Amino acid sequence: MPTATEKLLEYHNKSLTTEHYDDAEILIITCLDNRIDLHIPKKFAFTIRIAGANPKSVMPNIAFIISRGIKSIALIGHTDCAMSDEAKIKETFFQGYHSIDLPGEKVEEYFKLNILPSIFTDLNENLKENKKYLKSKFPELNIQAMIYDIETHVLNLVK
Ligand SMILES: [Zn+2]
Repeated sequence: MPTATEKLLEYHNKSLTTEHYDDAEILIITCLDNRIDLHIPKKFAFTIRIAGANPKSVMPNIAFIISRGIKSIALIGHTDCAMSDEAKIKETFFQGYHSIDLPGEKVEEYFKLNILPSIFTDLNENLKENKKYLKSKFPELNIQAMIYDIETHVLNLVK
């Protein structure tokens, strides 16, 4: 019997989307990058999309989904993630972000507090660290880290 994470890899990499599910079997946590296009059956997964696939910034959402009986988590990072380029993301954010709640002089503080913790340098290491973090919070769950290749669209397990 394949695990939910094994099924996810199989479904996506072979574009098998016709299986029928009444209930979700897995929680997918991935980046909000618009190039990520997962091919999975309907209702198979709950999905949380967050910059850099950083689970620490969405813990209440994860807790809520786990309370629904989900036993597996796939943590999916991807190649060419904007969150791995601090200088570029900082420039883009400082130039482009506008909010009536955030006057100019507060942008730096906001960035440090809310964006900086999701920035990383090594994708593999970042995924391993976040997987370890999730495992420490939810030791009874099956948690796998994966990398989505933006060029080939192939999903690979991080070992
Ligand atoms: Zn990304």
